[in-house]
Amino acid sequence: MNQELEVLLSREKIALRVAELADDISRDYREQPPLLICVLKGAVIFMSDLMRLLKIPVEIDFMAVSSYGSATASSGVVRILKDLEQSIQGRDVLIVEDIVDTGLTLNYLRENLASRQPRSLKVVTLLDKPSRRRVSFNPDYCGFAIPDRFVVGYGLDFNEQYRYLPDICVLHNEANSG
Ligand code: 5GP
Repeated sequence: MNQELEVLLSREKIALRVAELADDISRDYREQPPLLICVLKGAVIFMSDLMRLLKIPVEIDFMAVSSYGSATASSGVVRILKDLEQSIQGRDVLIVEDIVDTGLTLNYLRENLASRQPRSLKVVTLLDKPSRRRVSFNPDYCGFAIPDRFVVGYGLDFNEQYRYLPDICVLHNEANSG
């Protein structure tokens, strides 16, 4: 099956928006620099760019989660493949995610991390597909709201492909397109 890429958000547009997000986050957290939690693997490029533009001395940690397949679609339960290396009790925590789609993953993750008693807990996502929401979920910071299209690049994959692309692209399956 042939696949075609169409640029949705150019690297220049992404860079400008990430800098704006960094300004907002630096301002909001100037009194209490947060622990950034990168959700692997998709958010790795976003977090790398974001953290270098922050004007506050953040620390970082990583989590990896995976869905339970079809069961997740209804329950929203995700499996933690890699957990944090430290306690977040009493910390100001900012989850860094690539994309919010149905909201199930972040809803679960936020509840899971909230139960560990951080002082505060917020979410920054680069992309949001609000039209796909199945549970109510509002990110505290959002780069771009995008239409209901499958996107790759800038860390986002399709079967582990395309993460390296510097732009965010819509992936068209030629077999499916008219
Ligand atoms: P949610 O639980 O919000 O439905 O799903 C979030 C996860 O689904 C994201 O972290 C990402 O892994 C995946 N996802 C949702 N939409 C897209 C998309 O358009 N492209 C890619 N590559 N992954 C997506």
